[in-house]
Amino acid sequence: RAKEMGGGRVEVYAPHMHADVVRRLELGSDLQRALAEEQFAVEFQPVVDLATSRVTSVEALLRWWRGSEAVPPEEFIGPAEEAGLMPPLGDWVLREACREVARWREDSWEIGLSVNFTARQIGAPRFVETVAAVLDETGLPPHALTLEVREEVLVDDGTNVERLEALRDLGVRLAIDDFGTGYASLAYLGRLPVDVIKIDPSFVAGLGTDETSTLLTRTIVRLGSDLGLTVVAEGIERPEQLELLREMGCPRGQGYLVARPMAAGRVESLVRTNLAGGGDDVSGEIPLP
Ligand code: C2E
Ligand code: MG
Ligand code: MG
Ligand code: MG
Repeated sequence: RAKEMGGGRVEVYAPHMHADVVRRLELGSDLQRALAEEQFAVEFQPVVDLATSRVTSVEALLRWWRGSEAVPPEEFIGPAEEAGLMPPLGDWVLREACREVARWREDSWEIGLSVNFTARQIGAPRFVETVAAVLDETGLPPHALTLEVREEVLVDDGTNVERLEALRDLGVRLAIDDFGTGYASLAYLGRLPVDVIKIDPSFVAGLGTDETSTLLTRTIVRLGSDLGLTVVAEGIERPEQLELLREMGCPRGQGYLVARPMAAGRVESLVRTNLAGGGDDVSGEIPLP
């Protein structure tokens, strides 16, 4: 903006803006150090089949342990992008998560993995090649991996859509995250190779208490099913929500009521202590209310 206003003028920043810029710069260098010092971890949140309680997949969620404090992703992913760190950090998450899930699958446990990506990550050089290389390296079959993107990614830029299509051609699946909150037109559902829609938690929050949220959730579940897509309800916290979602025929669910995001080892023990028949039958059920 200062540039646009032409030479000879001194742009005066409001003090709070300055503080924000400084904070971002500091966060940027903290992040750089964090990456070097391995302060990052990946957690996994189970997604279940609502009819059978089976764990069908896990969502990888990035955690930054700065000292003993966990910094929420919403606070550091934006700054990490601005500092140009998201490509290496995102690649790291993908590799870690694929490695873990590929290992689980060796025990004949049919489980899928979803990983979140921002528009800029998808637009980074050699994105498609990197994803393909990680799959190859870790042995995770492409169909076991789902990329989660927000609707905005699909409106932004034709290149990103082409890249997602290229990955889809390899067998990788595509999920629309926070469905219903973005600015994209529904028309993209007919044009793009979308496999999964994740109902935004803001709709799920009002299930049973707010008429509009309940109606919208029901409509999204029906839309998804009519289009042959898998629908995942996100942010299930209360038993009434779970009950209503089942009644609506929502196929999949995720939320604190089902399971919190947790370290890989905890997912394993959670599933192993809940094996249906024991023995070789690795069914991976979570008892639900
Ligand atoms: P998201 O992809 O929509 O992930 C779901 C978020 O909802 C996670 O927050 C999860 O911990 C939280 N959540 C799950 N169940 C419940 C529930 O029942 N109640 C409530 N209140 N929250 C629930 P988290 O881990 O803080 O991540 C926030 C966002 O940060 C994610 O939203 C995603 O957009 C982004 N993110 C996280 N990890 C990554 C990553 O590795 N790469 C990228 N690009 N983005 C990431
Ligand atoms: Mg997500
Ligand atoms: Mg979401
Ligand atoms: Mg979200």
